[in-house]
Parts: sequence; C-alpha cells; structure tokens
Amino acid sequence: MKKYDVVIAGAGPAGIGAALEAARSGLKTALIERYGCVGGNLTLGYVGPLLGKVCPGTIAEEIEDAICAKRGAVPDFEKAKIALTALLDEAGVDVYLQTCVIGAQKVGEKIEKIDTAGKFGNISFSAEVFIDATGDGDLSVLCGCGFEMGREGDGLVQPVTLMFVIEGVDPDQPLLCRHEEDYTDLGDGREYLDLCHKACRTGELPENVNIVRLYSTGRNSERMVNATQENRIDPLDPSDVFKAEASLRRQIGKIVDFLRNNIPGFSDIRIKGSASTLGVRESRRVLGRYQITEQDLMEGRTYRDSVVHKANFCLDIHNPSGAGQSVHAEKRPVTPPPYDIPFAAMCPIGCNNLITAGRCISGTHVAHSSYRVMRICMAMGQAAGSAAAVMLQTRTATDTVDTDLIRRHLMDRGVKLED
Ligand SMILES: Cc1cc2nc3c(=O)[nH]c(=O)nc-3n(C[C@H](O)[C@H](O)[C@H](O)COP(=O)(O)OP(=O)(O)OC[C@H]3O[C@@H](n4cnc5c(N)ncnc54)[C@H](O)[C@@H]3O)c2cc1C
Repeated sequence: MKKYDVVIAGAGPAGIGAALEAARSGLKTALIERYGCVGGNLTLGYVGPLLGKVCPGTIAEEIEDAICAKRGAVPDFEKAKIALTALLDEAGVDVYLQTCVIGAQKVGEKIEKIDTAGKFGNISFSAEVFIDATGDGDLSVLCGCGFEMGREGDGLVQPVTLMFVIEGVDPDQPLLCRHEEDYTDLGDGREYLDLCHKACRTGELPENVNIVRLYSTGRNSERMVNATQENRIDPLDPSDVFKAEASLRRQIGKIVDFLRNNIPGFSDIRIKGSASTLGVRESRRVLGRYQITEQDLMEGRTYRDSVVHKANFCLDIHNPSGAGQSVHAEKRPVTPPPYDIPFAAMCPIGCNNLITAGRCISGTHVAHSSYRVMRICMAMGQAAGSAAAVMLQTRTATDTVDTDLIRRHLMDRGVKLED
C-alpha cells in the first residue's frame, strides 16, 4: 500500500493542474495515469489550441506559456510532453504512468484506498483526499457515485474525433478555417466551406464531415486538422472504440485526398502526425452536490463557493447524431457571458473525500459543452488541488470544508477570483 496526502487519477489538463497545485502546497501527491505519457487530450489527443478563458492568474497561464509558442497557438505536442513532465517532476509529484485505476474501497462516505493495475501487478493507494480527473469519471463510478451521460432524450454524446497535423502546404497559401463562420474565398470563384458542404453531400468527404477545420500550428506549411467524426459511439465501450478508430483512420485518408485534390497549395500535403488515442469530447458527468445548467451559464452566475471565475466559452455541441452543430445550428454557437464554477459542482454525492475536476464535473449536457475546454479544465484542477490542501490543513471533508478558505488559498496563489 502506498500512502499519500492526495491521489489524483488522470494526468490530463485537469489532473496536471491539480497535481501541480497540491504538490506546491506541500502535499505528498501521487498522479496516476493509464497511458505512458502525461497530458491526456493535450498530448496524446493532439488537441489544441487551448480554448476558453478564465480570470487572470490561474495555472492555465503558466502551462500555456510552457507549451505554446504564444498564447492562443496550437501547442507543440512534443514540447508539451517534455514541459509537462518537467513541471510535474520539479514540483515533486510522484507520477505513476501505465497504471490504471480499477477499484476503490469506501468506509461510509470516505474512500479508504483505491486499486490500480499495471505491469508491477496491482498497487493500492491510500490518501486523505482523492481527485477524479479521468475525464470519464472512472474513479467516482468505482466509488458508487451516480452520473449522467449524453443529451436528454436519446443519451447520445458528442461525436469522437481523431485529430491530425498535415505538412507540405504551400507557405504562401494562408487558408485557415476555425469554425462554421470562417467563409473563405479560395480566389478562383469557389468558397471553402461551400466546397466542404458539397464534398460531404457527394461522398468525397466522409459522412457527417461537412467542415474541415484547419488551424494554424505557427508554421505556414502545416495545419492542424479537426474534421474526422464518428457519431453514435459509446466512448466507454471497447468494441465501439475500435469501431470508431478504424473508421476515423480511414476518414483521415479521405480528408487528405479531398484537400490535395481541391485546395490550391495543398497538392503536396502529407500527414505529419495524428492522435494516439481517440478524442472523446463527452462521456460521464458525475452527479455532484450542485449541477451546473445552461441557464446558469446564460445568466453568468457567480456563487459563494466559486472556485473558477469568469469561465468563458461558447456552447460548443458537435452534433451527436449528424453533421455540424446541434444547438443553434443555423447560427454561430451562442457564447454565454463569463460564468463561475462552484466547488459544490466538483463534489460527487456519496463520497466526502473525493473531488472531480475537468470535463467529468457535475453539469448538464449543454453546460458541459462550454466548460469542457482545456483552460477551464486546468483552472478546475488547480481549484481541486487547493481544496485538497485546505481539507488536509483543517481536517475537513468536502461537505464540511470552509470554501472561503479554498478561495483565499487560490487568491494567495494569484488567482483573481474577485474583480
Ligand atoms: C477532438 C477534440 C477536439 C477538441 N478541441 C479542443 C480545443 O481545440 N481546445 C480546447 O481547449 N479543448 C478542446 N477539446 C476539449 C478538451 O480537449 C477536453 O475536454 C479536455 O482535455 C478535458 O480535460 P480532462 O483533464 O478533464 O480530461 P482528459 O484530457 O481526457 O484527460 C484525462 C486523463 O485521465 C486518464 N485516465 C482516464 N481513465 C483513467 C483511469 N481509469 N486510470 C488512470 N488514468 C485514467 C487519461 O488517460 C487522460 O490522460 C477537444 C476535445 C476533443 C475530443
């Protein structure tokens, strides 16, 4: 049995934020990750740029500066692997790679230990506080906590995607396409998104792929491509995961052919790299003591226990059952005013020493589509790490901790929770 102050499951953007904050606050911190590299979607998923805004002073700024040429740019994924590993190492976090969280044991509402599986056999970890940053809410479910998944009615989640980067673009071709409103004249009487829509209708592009988003990587001859998509997949079911993987790898080839054959300056492109794991936008949303709703976002709600302040991103629901966006499909996705995230939404019901951080916190399908982006997830992670520190200092649980002290802890770190 390994004994820690805090154990964090999942080393994605949220888990890294949590681990750095906890270790820098003096806690003996373990970070457990099922893959062989830290970063989650941010490295192995080839996801970028970091989207969403939060108030100044969060850990998201430090992480972005460490992995991106400039704020708002797509990260250099190789640099990110090195920089994130170095940050965790320097902070003194014990990182357990290739170790999957597979079980948990509770006494009453308290987790006593969790179990992991790896090459070394099964290792158990005990801690005062546990943080579930698995994206999928694995640890919470192993502890018997309830969850919701998918949209109301049919339970479908947003489509899965494999991101990839192309190189060999003519450096003088400036074409970028970040979202559905980036109408771009190709200079020969054709318009880029019209072309994508037509190619989807004729079958030149894969089914439901009616937009091939092209982001800058900072190099004129490269583009990050966010386009493949497979609908009606359960990202937790391994049979579905391979079905999606097989289809998405085929889609990459078709999309590259479409770009080569149709876009001036793209005739010599090659695939430079692609995600090593399926990009999952949405899975379980663990039920917490508060559930964030679309209305909360649209009202720009703040809370007495706000631990993430001025979160800001559009309601970005990639259509679970078809192409394009599913909410406000005819218009640009709606962007709510800046809103807060309360600590209660990060406290699963039924476990008083467990905190969630990242896309698995408690919110509705629509609210999740906004707060799931990476800067917001990192800020949640930092808040979870701060909460763990305060809970240890004051010997309290998630339902008894003084949330003013968590806020004070974050503000002492420079997080501008108050305007
Ligand atoms: C295709 C796609 C495009 C996107 N585009 C953008 C974008 O441009 N900008 C943006 O900001 N966001 C984007 N997002 C959203 C964003 O990437 C995610 O919502 C965000 O990474 C969530 O962070 P997280 O830390 O909660 O989860 P994740 O990044 O999923 O990390 C979870 C980590 O936990 C680990 N884990 C899971 N289960 C276990 C277990 N049982 N034991 C141990 N470890 C475990 C995983 O391996 C992973 O490392 C995109 C997402 C997708 C899928």
